[in-house]
Amino acid sequence: MELDDHAEDLASDLGVDKEEVKDDLQNLVEYSVPVDEAKQSLRRKYGDDSGGGGGTPSAKDIADITPDDSNVTVTGVVLTAGERSIRYQGDDHVIVEGRLADESGVIDYTAWEDFGLEPGETITAGNAGVREWDGEPELNLGESTSLSVDSESLDVPYEVGGEAQLADLRTGDRAVSIEVDVLECERKTIDGRDGETDILSGVFGDESGRLPFTNWDPAPEIEDGGTVRIENAYVQEFRGVPEVNVSEFSTVTALDRRIEVGSDTSTMDVADAVGTGGIYDVEVVGNLLAVRDGSGLIQRCPECYRVVQKGQCRTHGDVDGIDDLRVKAILDDGTGTVTVVLDDELTERVYGGTLEDALEQAREAMDQEVVADRIRERIVGREYRVRGHLSVDEYGANLDAETFEESDDDPAARATAFLEEVDA
Ligand SMILES: [Zn+2]
Repeated sequence: MELDDHAEDLASDLGVDKEEVKDDLQNLVEYSVPVDEAKQSLRRKYGDDSGGGGGTPSAKDIADITPDDSNVTVTGVVLTAGERSIRYQGDDHVIVEGRLADESGVIDYTAWEDFGLEPGETITAGNAGVREWDGEPELNLGESTSLSVDSESLDVPYEVGGEAQLADLRTGDRAVSIEVDVLECERKTIDGRDGETDILSGVFGDESGRLPFTNWDPAPEIEDGGTVRIENAYVQEFRGVPEVNVSEFSTVTALDRRIEVGSDTSTMDVADAVGTGGIYDVEVVGNLLAVRDGSGLIQRCPECYRVVQKGQCRTHGDVDGIDDLRVKAILDDGTGTVTVVLDDELTERVYGGTLEDALEQAREAMDQEVVADRIRERIVGREYRVRGHLSVDEYGANLDAETFEESDDDPAARATAFLEEVDA
């Protein structure tokens, strides 16, 4: 059934305007609410209580809210409130996202109406919708929510505001404030939703680490480089790693102070690193178990740069491939495995020769697999320290290596360090 039919259905059941329910339905569905649940929620909103319940939902502590609650009444302190623009049905809508806390816990919220939420305020949201996101409940503050600012403020064990360090940011974080150094920045022209538009993209650094960013509405303070304070940024996943998004609603101020950008990347267990779901700057140490197929001398499509098999690109068909070098190798540290990807430069180093050398070796042997074989002989069974960008998707975890060094630790020293860590 199409969304249109669902809307038709609802409109005739409830006796309301079809376009209105369709807007609402679309809105919920785009926010990952299953269509049946969305319809139920709209039945409640438009006053068809045939599903039972009805009336004002009971007040709940934040810690007690579960994704099974459909509507709740909560009182809490607004910790953060960040504006963001989204588009549905061709229109731009400004929504406010942030976190709300009481003594018992914290919950994310999205406000679809302009309630003028301010961090630090204690509010009571009557009839707030509850939706599930990633297994966790979230609040939807919309048309049917009654919102009031309480004169008596609640004491909560959480800090108001979104001050954060780059290393702590995770995909989905909203309304964060950071103070960072602009390490890399370039202006790009992209095909935006309103045609061609300029954006800035690059890398931020602070004491805790580094993270890539996109600035959708180029701020001169960022383009100039140096140190900036950014308020109301949000974090979204891009190519499997978290990325700081600086929007038209963010505030950017140039700062006078210098930031000591953290050079010691956090070394993590493979399992912990993979458990983050993607991390821009991480180091792991493990044994190189195998060099995977598609390593060594490879050919790439001249159009899309993807690897071609037997002269065939999956998108562009028969192509004249460009020769290149890369390695995809499996690294295991006992807690888990990750596929380490080496670019052409790192591959030349582990191969011990240039692309021309590899081409010559393959020509002589009349087999390009000899290149991967030589790499296998040189690296399999050894221990490596790898630093780079980790992305995780349904096919597994990939670590795009920036550095790839044979680990000089002796195993005894590592065992001692490990035991100290366990004791601590
Ligand atoms: Zn192609």
